[in-house]
Amino acid sequence: MAGFAPRLDDINFTLNHVADLEQVSKLNGYQHADPDTVATILDEAGRFFAEVMAPLNQIGDQQGSTLGEDGQVRTPEGFKEAYQKFVEAGWAAAHMPAEWGGGGLPYLIGVVIEEMFKSANLAFSLAPLLTHGAVEALVRHGSEQMQGDYLEKLVSGEWAGTMNLTEPEAGSDVGALRTKAIPQGDGTYRLFGTKIFITWGDQDLTDNIIHLVLARTQGAPPGTRGISMFVVPKYLLGEEGRPGPRNDYKIVSLEHKLGIHASPTCVISFGDAGEGAVGYLMGEEMAGMRNMFTMMNAARVGVGMEGLAISERAYQQAVSYAKERLQGRPIGADPTVSVAIVEHPDVRRMLLTIRAYTEAMRCLLYVTAQEGDFAAHGETEERRKLAEDRLALLTPIVKAWSTDVGVEMASLGIQVHGGMGYVEETGAAQYLRDARIAPIYEGTNGIQAMDLVMRKLPLEGGDVAREFITGMTEVLEDMNDHDDLGESRDQLTIAIQGLAETSAWLGDRLASGDYDAALAGATPFLRQFGTVVGGWLMARSAVAAKRAPADADPEFLSDKVNTARFYNEHLLPQANGLIPTVKGGNDLLSEASF
Ligand SMILES: Cc1cc2nc3c(=O)[nH]c(=O)nc-3n(C[C@H](O)[C@H](O)[C@H](O)COP(=O)(O)OP(=O)(O)OC[C@H]3O[C@@H](n4cnc5c(N)ncnc54)[C@H](O)[C@@H]3O)c2cc1C
Repeated sequence: MAGFAPRLDDINFTLNHVADLEQVSKLNGYQHADPDTVATILDEAGRFFAEVMAPLNQIGDQQGSTLGEDGQVRTPEGFKEAYQKFVEAGWAAAHMPAEWGGGGLPYLIGVVIEEMFKSANLAFSLAPLLTHGAVEALVRHGSEQMQGDYLEKLVSGEWAGTMNLTEPEAGSDVGALRTKAIPQGDGTYRLFGTKIFITWGDQDLTDNIIHLVLARTQGAPPGTRGISMFVVPKYLLGEEGRPGPRNDYKIVSLEHKLGIHASPTCVISFGDAGEGAVGYLMGEEMAGMRNMFTMMNAARVGVGMEGLAISERAYQQAVSYAKERLQGRPIGADPTVSVAIVEHPDVRRMLLTIRAYTEAMRCLLYVTAQEGDFAAHGETEERRKLAEDRLALLTPIVKAWSTDVGVEMASLGIQVHGGMGYVEETGAAQYLRDARIAPIYEGTNGIQAMDLVMRKLPLEGGDVAREFITGMTEVLEDMNDHDDLGESRDQLTIAIQGLAETSAWLGDRLASGDYDAALAGATPFLRQFGTVVGGWLMARSAVAAKRAPADADPEFLSDKVNTARFYNEHLLPQANGLIPTVKGGNDLLSEASF
């Protein structure tokens, strides 16, 4: 199994020359995050995740987390110590709010740290992902009392958070949930109900776990309008805010899963002993879905990151194997000599495909995270609004495109290994098993595609998407200065036109009320959108590399241009192949008998 080392050259290049770290570091509150300081921080982070978290990836897969007879979940060997180091080194808090003891780094940098953790150990990385979501919800919607009780410990990583939406009858349709919350007359509620699939729903890493639970109060209307959010700690707070009595819920079982074995996926029965789990209402009654969206948007970007991170890990593993494995030879060469498989054009195609998609996803993730920083800290109302709109448009694409591509790249990584990819010891198979959940949780990719078409395309009467697509053409002019980018420019021009065409077609379907036709084309449209955005950002990378930034190595820059050209000349043309599928309508689907 190959080791893991973050590709800091590409990470720093993308941060500085595709995203605009310098501009982000000028935003109010981020002045300490100048590019040089950030490069030093990321260097340290890279070492930490490669040395402490990556070696536990395969152990976590093999041992998995387990549920003891005492109802307590235990994590695999080494996880507890590694988590302690993660907290002590401050990585848990790096981009958390400074007023609650966090490092106050931009979200953009938090996302890069997340990438490293996820590449190193995807299953483990889910614990802080959910904690960060809980912090965000508490900062935005928690009462002063709640913030005082929980935030510092969640920010530092001393305690962890979880997100409890799903129930047996309420998956994609969260509005169907039945967990009940009964007011006690003293400001608290008692919760009764069963939640399933709760990631890191219990563990032995932290002294307390703060569950954010969606439930329905008495008399609440059906559907999402009637949902409220509650803070339900594992241990109710005792003296001086320390963990006191155990709350009334039980971990009923852990799911046996295809991958992410180290991440305990729990069935939780709230109110199992009959008393009801003590819950504290967050925000107002029936504002639960709005509060949950605060967590979900960041979590969707975080899950999109899983596609990138696993693809990077699969790439490193595949390159390492391809350089060592001797098999075959070029046509007509000495039959007694075998070459490393990395010499074969088809293997090089696979490797470059993984690298190109990985780098395109990296661009997309960082540019999206940067919009998150501008949305929160932009200097003018206008800039904040622009960033919010772009973030809203890009979030379903980040989540669904990156995770679908991540699964495909993990599979291609196996293909590079031949039979050795299908057996477990190389680790390549684990990446595919681990990656497979990402298109499912945090809203399935089908639901993301619906969100893109039904809610994001119509934003501001369609102007947000139209202006974004038109904005992508700006890079075409910069490409004119470089003869070897001519073919990439032509392909990108055609692909952007194709995207404008399908967007307009979908807009017309929505305007005429032909929703089924629009929904039938939603998933291929999202794929097309992601592929074209990838082409646009890889074109920007190529132009930036051509301008030869002084801080970069010439070989890296030449590789960067080559990879960007490969993306735009070999992969991007597939985008327009999706046009007939997007516009295919619903007739054949509705007529099919199953
Ligand atoms: C390992 C794991 C970890 C998880 N972690 C958490 C967690 O921490 N907290 C939490 O609350 N939940 C968690 N989940 C739950 C996860 O978010 C749900 O599984 C997911 O939202 C899908 O719900 P479902 O499984 O009920 O599938 P369903 O909703 O039954 O969907 C099945 C299929 O139907 C499609 N579909 C459903 N409705 C529609 C529609 N209206 N239009 C078109 N297509 C539709 C879906 O896209 C999907 O392809 C986790 C799940 C797993 C497996």
